[in-house]
Amino acid sequence: MTDKRTCPDCGEVIKGRSDKKFCSDLCRNNYNNKLNSDTTNYVRNVNNILRRNRRIIEELAPDDKAKTHKSKLLEKGFDFGYYTNIYKTQKGVLYYFCYEYGYLPLENDFYFLVKRSEKK
Ligand SMILES: [Zn+2]
Repeated sequence: MTDKRTCPDCGEVIKGRSDKKFCSDLCRNNYNNKLNSDTTNYVRNVNNILRRNRRIIEELAPDDKAKTHKSKLLEKGFDFGYYTNIYKTQKGVLYYFCYEYGYLPLENDFYFLVKRSEKK
């Protein structure tokens, strides 16, 4: 006998052809919809956070450079857990970027905000 396969959506044992992955079309649709919406929601949420972070730095550094306090960033809803990339200078200082806007942690909860120049 072949081993019993179960439906990834409802957990029922699948009867029929051996290449059947779901017990029914309903379960297959259900499963794929759930998978897609979870992934889509997650990606959308992360994108929203990154875009908000970027916008906050842009707001606080209209001249492409500024010094600000952590409380100002948090007040606007900045989330330090999300950034698009880290830039390390030759001196080993780390800048955290959200797209082209970045921040550098300074002493006493101050941050230096920058806009990345177009040069690569
Ligand atoms: Zn099923």
